[in-house]
Formats: sequence, structure tokens, C-alpha cells
Amino acid sequence: MRKVDVLIAGGGDSGLAVFRVVKTLRPDWEVAIVKPEKGFTFKCPLRYYISGEIGESNVLHDDEHMFHGATLIYAKLVGGDPKGKIAELDNGEKIRYEKLVLATGSKPHIPNIPGVDLKGVHALRYFPSAKAIAEEAKQASSVVVVGAGYIATDLADCFKKMGLEVSLVVRSRVLRTSIDSEFSTMVEEQLTQHGVKVVKGSPVKILGADRAEGVLLDSGAEVKGDFIVFATGIRPVVEPAANLGAAIGSKGVIVDDRLETTLRDVYAVGEVAEVRHMITGEPMTVGTAAAAMAQGDVAGFNICGFNIKYPGGLSCLVSRIFDLYVGAAGLTEDQARAAGFKPVVEKVEYLDHYTVYPGGRKYWARMIYDSASGRLLGAQFTGYGNVADKVEAAVLAIRFGATMADLVTHYSAAFPAATFNPRFNQFREPAKKVFSEKAK
Ligand SMILES: Cc1cc2nc3c(=O)[nH]c(=O)nc-3n(C[C@H](O)[C@H](O)[C@H](O)COP(=O)(O)OP(=O)(O)OC[C@H]3O[C@@H](n4cnc5c(N)ncnc54)[C@H](O)[C@@H]3O)c2cc1C
Repeated sequence: MRKVDVLIAGGGDSGLAVFRVVKTLRPDWEVAIVKPEKGFTFKCPLRYYISGEIGESNVLHDDEHMFHGATLIYAKLVGGDPKGKIAELDNGEKIRYEKLVLATGSKPHIPNIPGVDLKGVHALRYFPSAKAIAEEAKQASSVVVVGAGYIATDLADCFKKMGLEVSLVVRSRVLRTSIDSEFSTMVEEQLTQHGVKVVKGSPVKILGADRAEGVLLDSGAEVKGDFIVFATGIRPVVEPAANLGAAIGSKGVIVDDRLETTLRDVYAVGEVAEVRHMITGEPMTVGTAAAAMAQGDVAGFNICGFNIKYPGGLSCLVSRIFDLYVGAAGLTEDQARAAGFKPVVEKVEYLDHYTVYPGGRKYWARMIYDSASGRLLGAQFTGYGNVADKVEAAVLAIRFGATMADLVTHYSAAFPAATFNPRFNQFREPAKKVFSEKAK
């Protein structure tokens, strides 16, 4: 039987992060990666591959390069005997490990409605799906994108720029789990202004006999398109973990704050791991490469004998839809209320340069605080310049429990061609407003 020090099931972002930390800290350890597909898909930029702006080599990398120094096994983990530290693969092989990492990610979730198996129905995940979508898009003149998350809005932007007629089918409003309705409306207006048809409803059937021709919505409306892309969420691949006997929660594989599962020396990272929300303590999974890689690092260090604690999950977003950038961190106002907080919200509008310096672009910030403790619960940004640095600052503030009293005294560097006027600051000004209101 093959024996390894570390066996990583899953060769995506979180598995790669674990591998790189372990290989750096323990170069003499034998590390094996078991994964079903050849090649490493770099998923974040797939839409630029679909539009032809970047090539295949930018999004599909060689495993030998990405996992240099690992033993690569092309198979699936199906289960095993965690007491005997033996993993079982779908090719019948058994492997003895010292530490096992479950990094099996997620599968796209497509609603089970009539017609979903027709040709021309897609969901984007790994390179083959991107290739199939790119080929469809080249032949087509119209597309229906179903979904309201950042992958759906990004694809709507991508297909429109490729010259297709785009219908975006949204159940309630775009980016609902990341931003409140006022900013959702701004994003929808941005989509509409650029010619995307935003249609409200849920698909109940795929139209077409031999291949998809559109979707029928619960409202009775038909939305026609030459092909359909579902971006309607993901479901974690928990089966190997469940077969091993690891506890599975409502969202994924349960882990502790070292990212170890309920099985000794078995870790879970990335989209498959159920972590605790940083603010509410509720179970959640993370859905970004950024978070998956951070978890991979934490597990990698702990596997190598360190004791690093994962701070908990926090949803965050950065995207650009045509000319509008959008970003968010933490709870929306609706989510804060549902979690039992009494949220207080303040919105500000700024230019990203001093007003006296030409070229400033407008942006808006929306801050959500807990009225009882003053804690910052969430921050949302939209604007005509990049908001990524604002989201990063918000994540740090939320993670370290900043209150509005802390933020009232916050300051940063300022420069006319690079920042807002130092009299304004997206963290200090809203906190000051709410704080002064409360002090009255
Ligand atoms: C189109 C698209 C755009 C995105 N854009 C962004 C972005 O801009 N920013 C961002 O931060 N995130 C983005 N994401 C999300 C990000 O890519 C994922 O959250 C992240 O890749 C998840 O990493 P993971 O390791 O959990 O899963 P994956 O990277 O999916 O890795 C899972 C691995 O497990 C393998 N596997 C599955 N079952 C088994 C099994 N039984 N045995 C062994 N191996 C198995 C899979 O084949 C795969 O190799 C995007 C995702 C998509 C699809």
C-alpha cells in the first residue's frame, strides 16, 4: 500500500494552498494530491477566457507546475478507514496517510426543472465548462443567464461586451446576499443602461425540443435565448467526508477553529468546510478563492505542527459591472436584522479625489452598525473607481471588532490625486454622523 505523509483530496485553490505551505515548511514530506481532472483551472478570470481576451494557458495550468514536488493521482477519494488512516479511491487504490485534507470544493447547483439536460444548458465551474460556453457564445446571438450573484452579473457583462443579446433572470434582486436593495438597484440600472434585460422570476422549465431555446418563468413569461447559463449557486462535495465518518453540518463538513474535522488528523478546507460566521457564529461556507486559500494556509500550518486559529468566515465581494464597481463585507442590513441586531445605517457619497483635483470619480459607502454595541457589522461600496481597497479595510475593521467609537477617531493618509479630502473618510464620517446622533 502506498504511504504518504499528507494526502490532499482536491486540486483546486484550497488544496493548492495547503500543498504550498506544507511543501515549504516540510520539503522532505511525501505529499500526494488526488484529483479527478487533469489541469488546474484558475476560475476567477474564466469570463475573460470566454470573451477571448485571454487564452487557454492563462486559465488552465499544468498540474506538474502548480503541484511541483507532489505525487499526482488522477482519481476520486470515496471514503476509507480514518482509524487506520487509510483513504480509499474510486480506482480501488488504498493509501495510508498521516494527515488527510478534504479540499473537494463544490458542484454548481442547477434547479431540477424539465429540460435541464437539453443541449445548450450550462453552468460555469472548471475549464471544460468555460470552453463549452465560449464555443456556444461564438455561434449565438442571444443568451439567458439565470442567477443574481457575482458570477451571473459578471457573465451578463461579459456576454454583452461580446455583442450578444443578454437576458438576466433574477428571482428577487441582484447581489441580494451581499448588498442591500438601494445598491442592488444601482447595479440593476447599470445592467439595464448597458442593454442587459433584467427579468424577475424563477425558471420552471427549459424551452426547446432538441436543444434549449430559453426558459419559462413562474410568472408565465418566456425568456428566449440561444443558450442558457445557470449561475444559481453551488453545493459542497461532502460525500467523501461523510463516507469517512466525518460529521456533516447544515452547510458542509464541520471543522473546528484549526480546520480539523471531527476525525483526528483529517482537515477540511475551502468551499466544502463548514466554518462559523465571524459575527453571528452561524454555520457557513465560504465561496471565494481568497477565503479558500486563507483556509488552506491555516490547515497547512496546523498540519505542520503550528497552532493557527481560523478567525471565522465573513462574506465579502468585489466586482465590476460595466462602469460600476461594487464591493461589500460582512452583514447586509437585512441579514443583521435577521441575526437579531438592531442595525443602524449611514450612507455617504464622495469623490475618490480631492474635489479641487480633476478626474475624481463618485462613490458611495453604506455602513451598518449594531445600535447596541456600536460594532461595525457590514460595509458596502459602489462607485466609478475601484472599491477593493475599501472592502479590504472593512474586512479588517469588522474582523477586529471596530465600533463606531473606534471609527470616529480613524484616520488614514491623503493625497489630492489619490484619495478623498482628509476632511472626509468613508469609515470616519458615517461613524461620526451616527455617533453624534446617538449622543444627542
Ligand atoms: C466562474 C467563477 C468565477 C469566480 N470568481 C472568483 C473571484 O473573482 N474571486 C474569488 O475570490 N473567487 C472566485 N470564484 C470562487 C472560487 O474560485 C472558489 O471559491 C474556489 O476556487 C474554491 O476553492 P476550493 O478549493 O474549495 O474548490 P475547487 O477549487 O473547486 O477545488 C475542488 C477540487 O476537488 C476536486 N474533487 C471533487 N471531488 C473530489 C473527490 N471525491 N476526490 C478528490 N478530489 C475531488 C475537484 O475536482 C477540484 O480539483 C469564482 C468561481 C467561479 C466558478
